[in-house]
Amino acid sequence: MTNPNHPLADAIREVTASVQKAIAEGYRSRMIDADDLVEVLLAIADHLDPPLPDATNHVDIPCPDCGESSVDRLIWIDDEFVRCVACGTIYPPAG
Ligand SMILES: [Zn+2]
Repeated sequence: MTNPNHPLADAIREVTASVQKAIAEGYRSRMIDADDLVEVLLAIADHLDPPLPDATNHVDIPCPDCGESSVDRLIWIDDEFVRCVACGTIYPPAG
């Protein structure tokens, strides 16, 4: 018997949906590696226990798709672009 309102199940569903969206839109490869697994697990943990806002830990330009601004959740992929861990969007975080 599963409980449809279980917060862990909801968190996994939400993170899975965002990963599927990122794959569908081409932001994320279908080939997963250890980094992808870590990101997904941390995303689930953040859904269950959202990190406290910390003004000193935020970028000036948040994710244009979901508003994520924590430096811990925006991963540099090259000199100009970051990938948002929350939704998979890739964007330049500086003007
Ligand atoms: Zn985002």
